[in-house]
Amino acid sequence: LLSLEEATVRLGGRPVLDGVGLDVAEHEVVCVLGPSGSGKSTLLRAVAGLQPLASGRVLLDGRDQAGVPAHRRGVGLMFQDHQLFPQRDVGGNVAFGLRMHGVARGERDAAVAQLLELVGLPGAARRAVAGLSGGEQQRVALARALAPRPRLLMLDEPLGQLDRSLRERLVVELRELFGRLGTTVLAVTHDQGEAFALADRVVVMRDGRIAQSGTPLEVWQRPADEFVARFLGFDN
Ligand code: ATP
Ligand code: MG
Repeated sequence: LLSLEEATVRLGGRPVLDGVGLDVAEHEVVCVLGPSGSGKSTLLRAVAGLQPLASGRVLLDGRDQAGVPAHRRGVGLMFQDHQLFPQRDVGGNVAFGLRMHGVARGERDAAVAQLLELVGLPGAARRAVAGLSGGEQQRVALARALAPRPRLLMLDEPLGQLDRSLRERLVVELRELFGRLGTTVLAVTHDQGEAFALADRVVVMRDGRIAQSGTPLEVWQRPADEFVARFLGFDN
C-alpha cells in the first residue's frame, strides 16, 4: 500500500529524514519508535503530503505522490497534539472530516453515531468537548481521523496525553478495532510497550534513519545494534 524510497527531508540545513525506505502492506499495523527528534513526525508528515521531500519518493498503491496535495492522498493523520475544535460538540468534531470528504448532510449523523460507537463513546455526539476527559478527547480525535475511512491511517502519539493505565486499556481496544476494520495503520510512539502491543511490525528510528524494522519479537530478541538495544532498555 505505502512505499517510501530513499525519502529525504531537509530542515534547517540538515537531513531530518535521511534516505528512508519503508513498505507498509495493506491491513498491516506498523509502529514507529524512536527518541525525540529522530524524525518520526516528519516521516508521517512526508507521507501525508504536508512535508515536501528533498529527494526520494512516496508511493501509495504504486503511484508516486509527488505533487499530489494532502487532501487527495486518501490518508488520515491524527496529529501529536490532536487539537479538537472546542467550539464544536463531539459530533461536530467527528463530522468535520466527513464534510471535507463530501458526505451528504443527511448521512453524516448516522455515520457519526456509528464512529462514536466504534471508539467506545456511544451517544456522545451532543456532548461539549470541554467536558470530556483526556482519554475521551483522544477517542474523539481518533473517530475524526477514522471518519473519512482513509486507506492509510497515521497516528502521531495517539495516546500521548494519557496516563499509563488508560493507555494500556486503549491499546488493547485499538488493536481490536484495527483488526476488525482491517485498517492499515502507521503509528508513532516513543513508548515501546505500546508499540509492541499494537504493532505487527516495529520500526525503530535514529537520526532520520531506520535503525531496525521487524516484528516486535524479532526486535526484542535480536536488536540490530547497540542503539536499538539501549533504546529498548537492555544494559548490554
Ligand atoms: P518527538 O518524539 O519529540 O515528537 P520526532 O521524532 O517526531 O520527535 P520530528 O518532529 O520529526 O521528531 O523532528 C525531527 C528533527 O527535525 C528534530 O531535530 C527537529 O528539531 C527538526 N525539525 C523539525 N521541524 C523543523 C523545522 N521547521 N526547521 C528545522 N528543524 C526542524
Ligand atoms: Mg513527533
